[in-house]
Amino acid sequence: MLSIKNLHVKLEDEDKQILKGVNLEVEAGKVHAIMGPNGSGKSTLSYVLSGKGGYEVTDGTAKLEGVDLLDMEPEERAAAGLFLAFQYPVEIPGVGNMTFLRTAVNAQRKARGEEEMSASEFLKVVRAKAKDLQIDAEMLKRPVNMGFSGGEKKRNEILQMAMLEPKMCILDETDSGLDVDAMKLVADGVNALRSEGRGFLVITHYQRLLDHIKPDVVHIMSDGRIIKSGGPELALDVEHNGYADIKAEVA
Ligand code: ADP
Ligand code: MG
Ligand code: MG
Repeated sequence: MLSIKNLHVKLEDEDKQILKGVNLEVEAGKVHAIMGPNGSGKSTLSYVLSGKGGYEVTDGTAKLEGVDLLDMEPEERAAAGLFLAFQYPVEIPGVGNMTFLRTAVNAQRKARGEEEMSASEFLKVVRAKAKDLQIDAEMLKRPVNMGFSGGEKKRNEILQMAMLEPKMCILDETDSGLDVDAMKLVADGVNALRSEGRGFLVITHYQRLLDHIKPDVVHIMSDGRIIKSGGPELALDVEHNGYADIKAEVA
């Protein structure tokens, strides 16, 4: 589903190399997790995949179902089925959450050559999914993420993901200080959306999130590279022994 080969990324305005040859294959139906110390390049990887500016790819490739992602505009990536949830969800004053969601869903459908969802159909679907996620009608009407609590933002993020039905979901939950309830929400959301045709990449600083998600594969990133990959036990290993042991072992 997602295939990253030898990805090298530097800052656009500075001579600073951040990703130094990332290799990663996420298969459809699988949940991969990336853990790693602060500053190792985890968020940079998700930003580059999303098409955020400020970074320059100096080598390597990133493909979604065999199609080059790095050549696409951010909205084309979304239309191709890539979804990115970020550590700090953007607030959009003046734009109602429902309007935002409907615009996003229809833009994606249009890009895929599909018919737009009618207002009544959209309303039916969004209400059903919101109910599943315990999002009340009031929150659907408020401007996107404005004044939402941390938990509400997380619920909203999962709602966006559920509405867009992406092929590949990337969640960067690093350092966001998720409390236990918010963490459970994210985990439940991911678990509910797990399916054969969909891949997940969950980026996290803490093992706790992975207690609830149970990834198929865990990768450790350090200094711009994935230095070790393994099963869920690797996350527990990190929890008990920290990253230093793994770095030493690999060195
Ligand atoms: P992580 O998510 O693993 O904590 P990041 O991808 O946020 O790591 O950062 C990797 C490194 O790149 C850090 O040293 C960080 O300071 C640097 N970095 C990332 N983006 C920028 C930027 N826009 N300007 C300056 N330094 C940056
Ligand atoms: Mg960080
Ligand atoms: Mg980060």
